[in-house]
Amino acid sequence: MPLVVQKFGGSSVADVEKIKNVARKGIREKKEGNDVIVVVSAMGKTTDQLIAMAHRITNDPNPREMDMLMSTGEQVSIAMLAIAFHSMGEKAISFTGPQVGIITDSTHRKARIKSINTEKIHKALREGNIVIVAGFQGISTENDITTLGRGGSDTTAVALAAALNADVCDIYTDVDGVYTTDPRIVPKARKLEKITYDEMLELASLGAKVLHSRSVELAKNYNVVIQVRSSFDDNPGTLVVKEDKSMEDIVVSGVAYNRNETKISIIGVPDHPGVASEIFSKIADAHIVVDMIIQNVGGDGKNDISFTVGKEDFVQTLKISKQLCEELGANEVRSDDKIAKVSVVGVGMKTHCGVAAKMFRALANAGINIDMISTSEIKISCVIRSDDLDKAVQAIHDELELEAHPS
Ligand code: ADP
Ligand code: ASP
Ligand code: MG
Repeated sequence: MPLVVQKFGGSSVADVEKIKNVARKGIREKKEGNDVIVVVSAMGKTTDQLIAMAHRITNDPNPREMDMLMSTGEQVSIAMLAIAFHSMGEKAISFTGPQVGIITDSTHRKARIKSINTEKIHKALREGNIVIVAGFQGISTENDITTLGRGGSDTTAVALAAALNADVCDIYTDVDGVYTTDPRIVPKARKLEKITYDEMLELASLGAKVLHSRSVELAKNYNVVIQVRSSFDDNPGTLVVKEDKSMEDIVVSGVAYNRNETKISIIGVPDHPGVASEIFSKIADAHIVVDMIIQNVGGDGKNDISFTVGKEDFVQTLKISKQLCEELGANEVRSDDKIAKVSVVGVGMKTHCGVAAKMFRALANAGINIDMISTSEIKISCVIRSDDLDKAVQAIHDELELEAHPS
């Protein structure tokens, strides 16, 4: 029997009526002759509310206890969905991540799935159930509950689809596909019929939260075709697939943004071998991921080193940087938490030039200053003032002519 994995995000299960809508979609797949696994996120903004509640006690809560707290959100949704299925006369059973043996490493709040024990799911399917699994959570080898990082329910769904060799992996959300940019910022953004794993991975890593980046990485490694589609209509969505010939002509597939960046600069760092290594080793030892790095050579035997980290790591990175400044005999540390990053992504950039020039021109014409630039084979990113972000996304999208063409 074909196996379908369906995943529904927070806004798709935000209230009882929406949960009933999800149950109807599950039953429809089952009636078409499929085995069905449904992965759900916490209802609406539950995860945000749980985090805010902990932060009312301290701004540095223990990560193990945060996972214990956050995982409760998904447990509510799975039980509610099972109850909805039962009320419609359908056999269904819900499981938490630990119950179905989603084993992760022990990095609380950003754990990675190591293995999935599929026995329990197979048994429940054989018994005729629709199987409901809590997204975003697992259990570490030390037997502690873990979570997979914000947006991680997508990763639960793709990991299950890979482990069970599913025929379909549909990610249902509040937009009907992947667009050339966030349609909430640019209403004329164009829906993509398909997008390659590599482009989607870049877009997701650069902030497009429509898919969790780890889910795309897993899909690519295990050849899972993902379809991103709407919970609220039956339109075909966007397929995330391997690159094929027809996709080479598309130079730019999308514009992504990230409001979660902050910048730290260590000014007047003595210019000798090993200094950068010392700075970034100390930061890595604290499990902090550094994004962009820029070094300006001062000419007086001193350099300025600037880098960006996520907002959640800002306070700790600043503390480490101030210590390093003293140890290295640098002049001072400057910081800026009012920045944002805007990026252009496209596999066609490997063979077409001029995209960077267009992106910079769009920003210049909109009067937006570029603070930092970084590039790779298929992306260009600029750090700008966070207040300018919406205007920047719109201007770049216009300049690259990515909008929907009237048909
Ligand atoms: P869910 O709760 O279903 O997981 P998310 O909020 O995590 O949903 O992701 C869906 C959101 O992603 C959309 O509402 C949209 O605002 C945002 N988004 C950002 N970039 C894009 C893009 N390129 N295409 C579609 N949606 C995007
Ligand atoms: N509920 C979790 C979050 O809000 C996981 C998810 O929605 O994918 O991040
Ligand atoms: Mg999401």
